[in-house]
Amino acid sequence: MTHIFHRNPAAELPVAAGGEGCYLIDTDGKRYLDASGGAAVSCLGHGHPRVVEAIKRQADTLAFAHSAFLTSEPAEQLAEYLARKAPGDLDWVYFVSGGSEAVEAALKLARQYFLEIGQPQRTRFIARRQSYHGNTLGALSIGGNVWRREPYRPLLMESHHVAPCYPYREQRADETPEAYGERLASELEDMLQDLGPETVIAFVAETVVGATAGALAPVPGYFKRVREVCDRYGVLLILDEVMCGMGRTGTLFACEQDGVAPDLLATAKGLGGGYVPIGAMFASDRIYQTIRAGSGAFQHGHTYMGHALACAASLAVQQTIEDDDLLSAVHARGEELQAALTERFGTHPNIGDIRGRGLFRGLELVADRDSKRPFEADTKLHARIKSEAMERGLICYPGHGTIDGQQGHHVLLAPPFILESSQVGELVDKLSGAVEAALAAVR
Ligand code: PLP
Repeated sequence: MTHIFHRNPAAELPVAAGGEGCYLIDTDGKRYLDASGGAAVSCLGHGHPRVVEAIKRQADTLAFAHSAFLTSEPAEQLAEYLARKAPGDLDWVYFVSGGSEAVEAALKLARQYFLEIGQPQRTRFIARRQSYHGNTLGALSIGGNVWRREPYRPLLMESHHVAPCYPYREQRADETPEAYGERLASELEDMLQDLGPETVIAFVAETVVGATAGALAPVPGYFKRVREVCDRYGVLLILDEVMCGMGRTGTLFACEQDGVAPDLLATAKGLGGGYVPIGAMFASDRIYQTIRAGSGAFQHGHTYMGHALACAASLAVQQTIEDDDLLSAVHARGEELQAALTERFGTHPNIGDIRGRGLFRGLELVADRDSKRPFEADTKLHARIKSEAMERGLICYPGHGTIDGQQGHHVLLAPPFILESSQVGELVDKLSGAVEAALAAVR
């Protein structure tokens, strides 16, 4: 008997009772290897003593002081820490409680920036198909995930979408990765021309696409070209690193590997590592100074922004990543994971692509490897893999609609940064068992 309005009221869920490192444990004592950190959240695994201690210490001191009246030491320290590490001049950190809130804040600040500099005609956003930016109405409006948008379409604000950077399916055989990236940047420029570039606020993209398409990393040069196009027309670049940021791909900010800095950046998930709900929007110095010298305030806000307890926990998460050199671990374990996945699935008839960066990896399932034909949507392959994996004591993050919002299936992996080499084998073995069992049911 439950009174929780669960995501899926019909599903019978195990009850989580504890967590130890990379494992979650249910009330029956069953252990699950958390190979997706939930949804790329639990970067330090579960029950990390340093984070638990920081939370206890902060709870004893101060849990919450409303940000309209007071600031707090943990919030100041975390902002200073993050601003020091952030690329470009993303020197200003606006704390929120999650990813959708971080994206909403970025969209609204971008609009307000143009009002302040006397360009009120800029009202439009361009984003990409096959991206997810959150479930609140603004974030959903710019999102490119067809099935998530569909029921709410009449309520969504105007947005425009260009192609994702999806080399497995969309890079031509006669095209280098660089030429493919150029072609995509040209598509963005063409859309700007069609819309009238002076009407566009920003281009929004996940640096590495997560939930909708399964760890799609950009080709070399893509974001540099995109940045140039945005700059040519005075359009802002907003990067959504809610899932791929905070070390997940091997650098604290995923865009470091692409040699670009956006004007606004959204992050969450790994920022608090699941210990607390926290997200952040980073703003460039130019945008911050414009607001400060102009109207003087960003016309936005939430009750829990800059929550002291959340900031203290997040600071402990981030300092642990630094002190324990976990970005190197992400890189090393990520390479081991890619190698192990390639050894197991590299010639598998139903795995078309194995991709990603760091500890952010995706496998795309296909009915036919040569033609890349997907399985029919009604096979619900993703749901089958998820439940077969749970059965075997593995949590992974399968998705559907990989190709166009309806067709295609993938599995996303995002294990904790503390994953040990010996656990890579356990992960791949359990995943392989789950994939084979799910495939046997649909063949
Ligand atoms: N942006 C991206 C890239 C995400 O992956 C997500 C969540 O999965 C969000 C935004 C929304 O974050 P939240 O669920 O914390 O609101």
